[in-house]
Amino acid sequence: GDPTMYESYWQKKGDETTVVIPGWQFMSYFSDATRLCWFLEPEFAKQIVRLHNVVGNAVTENRHIVVGTGSTQLFQAALYALSPCAEAEPISVVSAAPYYSSYPLITDCLKSRLYKWAGDARSFSKNGPYIELVTSPNNPDGFARRSVVNGSEGILIHDLAYYWPQYTPISSPANYDLMLFTVSKSTGHAGMRIGWALVKDEDVARKMTKYIEINTIGVSKDSQVRAAKVLKVISDNSEGPNEGDSFFEFSYRVMAKRWKQLREAVQQSGLFSVSDFPPQLCMFLNRVFEPQPAFAWIKCEGDIEDCESFLRGKKILTRGGKHFGVSPKYVRISMLDRDKNYETFVRRLSTIRS
Ligand code: PMP
Repeated sequence: GDPTMYESYWQKKGDETTVVIPGWQFMSYFSDATRLCWFLEPEFAKQIVRLHNVVGNAVTENRHIVVGTGSTQLFQAALYALSPCAEAEPISVVSAAPYYSSYPLITDCLKSRLYKWAGDARSFSKNGPYIELVTSPNNPDGFARRSVVNGSEGILIHDLAYYWPQYTPISSPANYDLMLFTVSKSTGHAGMRIGWALVKDEDVARKMTKYIEINTIGVSKDSQVRAAKVLKVISDNSEGPNEGDSFFEFSYRVMAKRWKQLREAVQQSGLFSVSDFPPQLCMFLNRVFEPQPAFAWIKCEGDIEDCESFLRGKKILTRGGKHFGVSPKYVRISMLDRDKNYETFVRRLSTIRS
């Protein structure tokens, strides 16, 4: 899911998002020692709130912002903060399959005594506390999601990496206790390694901040300043007179075109299927459209059991269903590659015959 598709937009913007940092700046560990998250750059915090207000995809009032080295670090900080420390057993961490393949790897990487991966949320029936990851729109299949476990002691983490108008209609501001966002999938700047969490509970936000203090003593200020600039340009252009050339208009159009090409290729080949998504009104773009996810979640129809190997034989690299907790008949393909690679991919897909 390397979001290199976005390079061409930012290239076109030239120096608008260029940041120059004098050698003596951002030398301190601290950004604002009076804040709960003391390593959060105030200008970045300001631009996060502004962009959510412009797009209308998340409630920011009465929330603490915690910045992380990508939302990957924030996910780990959230597990640390949400795990009860007095329990004898690690708390179960679940997500409905197909789930983002990194969740089980990250959760069990250090074999923590605080938390443990417990698989598909749909088949989870243990009593007691648990953490459920809700990814909406979901990676890999692109569907909007809600929590599925029906327990009374569930703690939810909402991973909203893809809740942006180029991927899905923004129907209302998300309003959950713990929401994760990242520049990787919103602006395409995965290499900055910047994510942010909007956290309702002060104690949870404090513990997440503590984790990041122990883990990396904060988050790169250079990256935060650069991220602030990128978010500012997106907000300015979304509100200004050149609205038609705004970042979300551009990326919405690219995704719409790519999804059209994908559906045509799938139809021409006849060997695969992709889901349809119900259209909805996007309050930000002010139009009705069908979700156009960052990944194509493709099923090999007929008797092809291992879709990943089959497609590798046709020179298409994918990630098989097993990584996401489902059948190898499914594969995930990035829709965010550079134009040239995407064109090659749809051309190859469209010519595959049984
Ligand atoms: N959550 C989801 C659902 C993702 O798909 C990804 C990236 N593939 C991440 C988190 C990781 O984001 P980051 O680059 O901010 O660590």
